[in-house]
Amino acid sequence: FFQLRTIPQYLRYHAEQTPNKTAVVAWSGIKKDKMRLSYSELNRLTDQLANAYQEAEIQKGERIAIFMDNEQGMECILSFYAAHKIGGINVPINARFSEPELQYILEHCEASTIITSVNLLSKVQGVAGECPSLRRIIVAGDAPLEVPLSNTAIRMYSFQTLMENGNSSPPTARVEETDDADWLYTSGTTARPKGVIHTHASAVATGYSVGGALGLSETDVYQSAFPFFTSSGCHFNLLSVLVYGATMVLDRKFDVEETLSTMESEKTTVYVGVPAVYTFMLESGNIPNYELSSLRLLDYGGAPMPKQVILDLFKAFPGIELRQTYGLTEAGPTGTYLPGEYALDKLGSVGKCGMPLVEVKIVDEKEQEVGPNVIGEICYRSPANMRGYFKNEEATKETLRDGWVHSGDLVYRDEDGFIYHVDRKKDLIIRGGFNISSLEVENCLYQHPAVLEVAVVAKPHKNLGEDIKAFIVFREGKSVTNEEIIAFCRERLADFKVPRDFEIIDALPRNPMGKVLKTELRKKV
Ligand code: ATP
Repeated sequence: FFQLRTIPQYLRYHAEQTPNKTAVVAWSGIKKDKMRLSYSELNRLTDQLANAYQEAEIQKGERIAIFMDNEQGMECILSFYAAHKIGGINVPINARFSEPELQYILEHCEASTIITSVNLLSKVQGVAGECPSLRRIIVAGDAPLEVPLSNTAIRMYSFQTLMENGNSSPPTARVEETDDADWLYTSGTTARPKGVIHTHASAVATGYSVGGALGLSETDVYQSAFPFFTSSGCHFNLLSVLVYGATMVLDRKFDVEETLSTMESEKTTVYVGVPAVYTFMLESGNIPNYELSSLRLLDYGGAPMPKQVILDLFKAFPGIELRQTYGLTEAGPTGTYLPGEYALDKLGSVGKCGMPLVEVKIVDEKEQEVGPNVIGEICYRSPANMRGYFKNEEATKETLRDGWVHSGDLVYRDEDGFIYHVDRKKDLIIRGGFNISSLEVENCLYQHPAVLEVAVVAKPHKNLGEDIKAFIVFREGKSVTNEEIIAFCRERLADFKVPRDFEIIDALPRNPMGKVLKTELRKKV
């Protein structure tokens, strides 16, 4: 079945082969409760919604923005697969965006339709008049539909009514593997969001590749709290589960107790999270209170994983495989992965090779491949790579060269070929001409028993060009003097890498995925 070419083909395949198997468990904003759908129910409801879209005259190729979070997880998933069935293009948008940020993406992608929830509707109404392409607002939940809008071309629809009244026969639209499936806007941690174009072919390849890297099969119950609107939420998670016919359990948010209790009740076999999720799970001390014998794999990725957290996870989850995955939206997201058997021996490595289908190379500034222990940029080539950025030819040419996605991440290989992430190019600190990896300094500080979280950034310095600034969150009730921390770092780092400027804060600024927003920290230095 890996020969199937489009997302709807996979949904139909599993609906026919395993109709009663649970496809998704997610929070429904309409029902205000957790909801579960089998593959046949998911297929039927998305057929109904897709036919209703056609009746509302949504054409193939139109952009359908999904502006909801995991509190409407089920509605996100239904919208996602329904659009694919008519050749519509999904544009998931960060539900925490302010009105100007939302307006930027709606205008940029020229959305014709937006699907939103009752609690986010006022933001949509606030910008609707400024988005000339917008024709439809679809609201999931009970909201008055007769709201005056400054753009009179816009009609409002109820998500429930569309879905319930839609015809349940398979929609007639012809969807090809070369058609665009989703435009995934980057989270904007380093620059303005860019619209990453994925076709059905690249989306399916992502599902195949990621699922292969995680060793998924139809017996797996895969749980994650990644927000749906991120590439990790809708592509890495949903598509890998779909391709392999497993069960997706989408958490409505990350909450230690809720997450662990869902792992227990759903008999989760694979859990996927960003590093911060594991830090908070470990810090709670509550892992032993849950019966987690179904669990076979914990996967971490999306951001650098502190080595200390890996060591602590080994103790907290004995016998459970710890895998690292590493990738970026432009490549699917696909990239590299480190199987659990190397997690200790090659502590901190992001793997030796690419995920299935993915070729990896590490190059210098002249595009020449570098040898062992030499730092270069990691690049990916695979059928999961993006087609390009929407309306941004310059950035497309910069990132996608000769079929290789250039990641902007600096890495090196050790003598055995294992790859280690050094830093994002943009996060590297250049102090008096010496390159310093912010991650290396962070990894050192994480070893201090009083430190819960840390992030290190460059600060301008009149003589050195840049200097190091460390933002630290201490464990509850713990604190240490600057002198003690400096002495601790001196024992572990070369002198030029030792930070001298510290700021103690209550929590690190994070995006909804849980990634640290270094751009926010840089504003404070
Ligand atoms: P933007 O591109 O707008 O800044 P973003 O960085 O959040 O947004 P993503 O595609 O979600 O975009 O993130 C990809 C980046 O995340 C990678 O380039 C890398 O820097 C980082 N990353 C992902 N996985 C790992 C990992 N396992 N270890 C270290 N870094 C990782």
